[in-house]
Amino acid sequence: MLNITEIRKDFPILSRTVYGKPLVYLDNAATTQKPRCVVDKIEEMYYNLNANVHRGVHFLSQEATNAHESARLTVQKFIGAKSPNEIVFTRGATESINLVASSFCRAFCKEGDEILITAMEHHSNIVPWQLQGDIKGVKLRVVPIDENGELHLDELVKKISPFTKLIAVTHISNVLGTINPIEEITKIAHEHDIPVLIDAAQSVQHLPIDVQKIDCDFLVFSSHKIYGPTGIGILYGKENWLDALPPYQGGGEMIASVSFEKTTYSEIPFKFEAGTPDFVGSAALATALDYVSEIGLEPISCYERELLEYATQRLQDIKGLHIYGKAANKSSVISFLVDGIHPYDMGMLLDKMGIAVRTGHHCAEPLMKELGIQGTVRASLAFYNTYEEVDALIKGIERIIKMF
Ligand code: PLP
Repeated sequence: MLNITEIRKDFPILSRTVYGKPLVYLDNAATTQKPRCVVDKIEEMYYNLNANVHRGVHFLSQEATNAHESARLTVQKFIGAKSPNEIVFTRGATESINLVASSFCRAFCKEGDEILITAMEHHSNIVPWQLQGDIKGVKLRVVPIDENGELHLDELVKKISPFTKLIAVTHISNVLGTINPIEEITKIAHEHDIPVLIDAAQSVQHLPIDVQKIDCDFLVFSSHKIYGPTGIGILYGKENWLDALPPYQGGGEMIASVSFEKTTYSEIPFKFEAGTPDFVGSAALATALDYVSEIGLEPISCYERELLEYATQRLQDIKGLHIYGKAANKSSVISFLVDGIHPYDMGMLLDKMGIAVRTGHHCAEPLMKELGIQGTVRASLAFYNTYEEVDALIKGIERIIKMF
């Protein structure tokens, strides 16, 4: 059992008001709020440990390097990777996917090859592959979803062809909340000798992740969605894959030796970390992961599931409200529309009541097209949200319906 009242004290922002009303923050799929320990860690790094990492012989540089490399170990442990060499620090999930798309397609793809994705991908797992289409002639193939927002594995199998070079799939849809069967998908892909990239941007903060159990080849996530700072994220890659991929960006840190005639590259993971890394961000991300681990992802996921069930029940009782995404296995994201009310109006009016939700296409325009709509209102719950906050959302929607 989580003590939500106590947990909320760790997040100072949750006790602020907007427009004179208590803030009800239900936009956690966009970004999560930060516990005090994460902000304290950022302050501590700048006040006490600020020096460039890896290159310095002096004390401060070594301390900063230790903090940064110890953060890599924390991430490794958090996702169950075999080695810290499999953990690459990037700017976020988006950059991680761009890295794989660029390096993988450069090394392994030719004109006409295919990358298999799903209809529920975020733009971050669509556009990086399309950019490679412009350069290498790689094409996207898309696995459809059913009316509940679920993937069918037989549909996925049908889309695999001799040209399929990689399957890139989101673990959890940021619009529908669908939790995809990533272990089965990886198993199927590997039976066809195809590597798999998992976009875990919406899952690491909700479910325990074990990359060795999933057996995926790549997995990406962003720190800011798991209570860590913005501007840093993770690419996990199996050692053999990271070894096989060419560097993504060039600069300091990623080289073994440089001459005007020939440059050689560092070992992994440094080969993919050009320039001064965000050692403040990595240390603060590690603090966020420790914070989450201490509370426990099992209890977090259990509480969020109960809150999701409660919110879904209450929303379903509202006449004229339609929920998009009814997968049997679902995360705490609820997209909905109310008859006759534009999602933008709903979002604006809820905002005036202190309730922060997301409106629009949620960076998933192709999915909106599939659903035949332009956008939704999205309430996304985190473990610091309460039943009272769900009640406030319901009350707000009911009030708005009466206004129209
Ligand atoms: N993938 C999914 C499923 C997401 O929901 C998001 C962000 O909302 C991203 C990728 C991109 O994350 P970021 O903008 O932090 O790189």
